[in-house]
Amino acid sequence: MEQSFIMIKPDGVQRGLVGEITSRFEKKGFLLKGLKLLSVERPFAEKHYEDLSSKPFFEGLVEYIISGPVVAMVWEGKNVVATGRKIIGATKPSESAPGTIRGDFAVEVGRNVIHGSDSVENAKKEIALWFPDGTVN
Ligand code: ATP
Ligand code: MG
Repeated sequence: MEQSFIMIKPDGVQRGLVGEITSRFEKKGFLLKGLKLLSVERPFAEKHYEDLSSKPFFEGLVEYIISGPVVAMVWEGKNVVATGRKIIGATKPSESAPGTIRGDFAVEVGRNVIHGSDSVENAKKEIALWFPDGTVN
């Protein structure tokens, strides 16, 4: 069954949005397969976002992700990657629709609360990176 890697970013954790966010995925009908609170170090954050390493905002993005604990999760279900992206909303909160997580809880693109895998292939890579011990299957 399809799985997606979903991460609540440091601002989402600090603002107390963990319950609200997990609730939205649960109520949709997706199955929680893995969840942990952890802080990551710079090289790990750089690896997670390696496809964006040439972007001008890359350094700031890495600083943001290492600024506090994140909640790393694996959610499972039919079309969970694409549907998860819809639940999350557009990257820029100014463009994310009300009713989406970013549309409801974010204002700044550099503080947009949550990450979701953008393809099934990247979901597999991200799950292997964040849950390397085989606890998710
Ligand atoms: P994510 O990968 O975090 O789920 P996304 O897939 O919607 O987000 P990406 O293009 O992969 O968007 O960008 C990754 C993250 O980089 C964004 O979520 C945001 O936090 C940050 N970001 C993207 N564009 C900008 C920008 N123009 N300025 C500052 N930060 C940005
Ligand atoms: Mg992305």
